[in-house]
Amino acid sequence: MAHRAELIAVGTELLLGSIANTDAQLLSEHLAELGINVLYHTVVGDNPARLREALELARTRVDVIITTGGLGPTYDDLTKQTICEVFGRKNVLHPELAQWLRELFAARKRPMAESNLQQAYLPENCTIFHNHNGTAPGCAFCEDGVHVLMLPGPPRECERMYRTGAEPYLRALSEGVIVSHTLRIYGKGESDVESMLREKIAAMSNPSVAPYAKSDECFLRVTAKAESAEAAEALLAPVVEDVLGVVGEWVYGVDVKDLESVCVAALKARGATLSAAESLTGGLLAKRVTDVPGASAVFLGGVVSYTNGIKNRVLNVPQSLLDEYGAVSEPVARAMAEGVRALCGSDYALSLTGVAGPDSDERGNEVGLVYIALAAPDGTQCRRCTFGKRSRDHVRMQAVNTALDLLRRKLAAQD
Ligand code: ATP
Ligand code: MG
Repeated sequence: MAHRAELIAVGTELLLGSIANTDAQLLSEHLAELGINVLYHTVVGDNPARLREALELARTRVDVIITTGGLGPTYDDLTKQTICEVFGRKNVLHPELAQWLRELFAARKRPMAESNLQQAYLPENCTIFHNHNGTAPGCAFCEDGVHVLMLPGPPRECERMYRTGAEPYLRALSEGVIVSHTLRIYGKGESDVESMLREKIAAMSNPSVAPYAKSDECFLRVTAKAESAEAAEALLAPVVEDVLGVVGEWVYGVDVKDLESVCVAALKARGATLSAAESLTGGLLAKRVTDVPGASAVFLGGVVSYTNGIKNRVLNVPQSLLDEYGAVSEPVARAMAEGVRALCGSDYALSLTGVAGPDSDERGNEVGLVYIALAAPDGTQCRRCTFGKRSRDHVRMQAVNTALDLLRRKLAAQD
């Protein structure tokens, strides 16, 4: 049976709302990749009695408990002591850790406070997780069939230690190997995807298929468990094919990072270039594309043509179009894309013009109405989108995603 996990985040600042529990988000994502079911996220303050209660409850309902935070040398860092009490383990000095700490401080030419030696104490007979980004080591042990893992709170330390210590520990728990592939979907929501695949999902156990929603997109994770990575891949291949047969139209990539990376890679592969004319997104598309390392090979530049004057003077959008149809219109979107394509001399050009909100524009166009045009060597296409009355940020994000999706579809269609 799959392992069942509970994440216990320790820290009063989480309860006060000063910080968000991003460690839990990150760990949940990683654990899903291992096929471990995360059943509970618990948050407790820096309070030994309540942490004890949380641990007592957790050990009755899961077989993997992962704590984050409270491993440091300060008085409020009480995770280790409390865990040792609950699980009846001694908290003992690990001489090799004491030595490591002394060397670390010596290398940094800093005196070591005695309190730092606290960090060389861990439960006896545990697997030590070394900290490559800080001074607090983590660890894992198993008591009565329950695995307890302790990770530091600072996200950088938590993630690194997960990768270098916790993940290998957890992988070793399961017999065989777990391999998963992620199909990234844009333009169809999680519930649509689920209903399109409902029967297939219900009929499968290994590999399993699960849809997840993520801000403006969704993804499908296909996970298989087998004796070897090759055997798992052999199980996965036909299922991925099968799923692509149903939702392939909306899948922009398998095991890819995001839409912008897919677009940059596709442009690179074709030796083609891109430019952008942005109104409502104010440069967001250019920012997203240039977030991708190596974007300079394909992205020539862009114009933030926020006003009609700039649309007309820089992009050569005819004043008559602006007067007749208004800035938020198909003819203007087309002229913007063609204008920036000519200006930059790119193969492809995207343009975005619309109403980000919070109010309708002076012509009565509703919030969320966006025209996106793509000028290409073989002509220009334009899409009219109604994203609905969402926040400015959301409308802009959807506009950029839709523009990138339009481009990646165009490039894919040319194969
Ligand atoms: P340190 O050695 O820095 O004291 P620690 O393991 O004792 O590490 P905490 O003292 O609990 O961890 O938290 C240190 C900082 O790490 C917090 O102030 C916060 O910024 C961040 N942090 C802690 N827990 C989380 C969490 N669950 N999600 C995101 N950030 C966190
Ligand atoms: Mg601390």
